[in-house]
Amino acid sequence: MNLLEMNHVKKSFGDLGVIQDISLHVGEGEIVTIIGPSGSGKSTLLRCATMLETMDSGELIYLGEKAAWNDENGNAVYASKPELKKIQQNYGLVFQNFNLFPHYSVLRNVMDAPVAVQKRDKEEARKTAMELLEKMGLVDKADAYPCQLSGGQCQRVAIARALALNPKILFFDEPTSALDPELTGEVLKVIKSLADLHIAMVIVTHEMAFARDISDRVIFVADGVIVEEGTPAQVFASENERTKNFLGRYG
Ligand code: ADP
Ligand code: MG
Repeated sequence: MNLLEMNHVKKSFGDLGVIQDISLHVGEGEIVTIIGPSGSGKSTLLRCATMLETMDSGELIYLGEKAAWNDENGNAVYASKPELKKIQQNYGLVFQNFNLFPHYSVLRNVMDAPVAVQKRDKEEARKTAMELLEKMGLVDKADAYPCQLSGGQCQRVAIARALALNPKILFFDEPTSALDPELTGEVLKVIKSLADLHIAMVIVTHEMAFARDISDRVIFVADGVIVEEGTPAQVFASENERTKNFLGRYG
């Protein structure tokens, strides 16, 4: 079964059609990267997938459970709040700008949602959080505050925080684009290490070498449609003019 299915998603902002008609699926443990020019609708697509944005039309399905579908007029309708809450447990999201709580310590940032939202035992949540911080190479920063960390460290905390909720699928929206180039590598390395955990990942990125290296599948989006998708070998050797043009510019 697919972890995620999006079928014929459409999304406009006023007159601006941002997502024209996109369908995609993500299988268990699969790593999918989404590449494409700035303004092509990549963030909007992730925001629709994670329900931070409502689609105008289309289907959104996690593990066979429908979060949204079309009514008889072709407009998206969403499941009830309690159902959506349950579906949301399947995924986590890592933003470009980390979005850490500035007044919480690193440890509290990581263990807050498991305790406050998932009502997990505090000691168990703390243990899990420390294990995740260890995996991120940040144990010694557990009591620090976000303002005392580098951007790369903040992003690693944000990744630990997302993992603490035990998602089956993790979305990243340009996780390194707010970082200085010398900090990009450490974050990409950490993301790469998650592949061993068999968590599926959907990663929007401008890091073409990274996309090529990590992906099971690459999706090239432009002007709100999927221009091309395939294995890294297929997409990076594509003869499609638009793909070639884009990769020429970034690769
Ligand atoms: P990308 O992530 O590929 O750079 P986005 O999904 O952020 O692209 O944006 C696609 C287009 O949608 C852009 O033209 C952007 O200005 C527009 N857009 C995104 N979010 C909104 C919004 N909330 N309101 C109006 N326009 C938006
Ligand atoms: Mg974006």
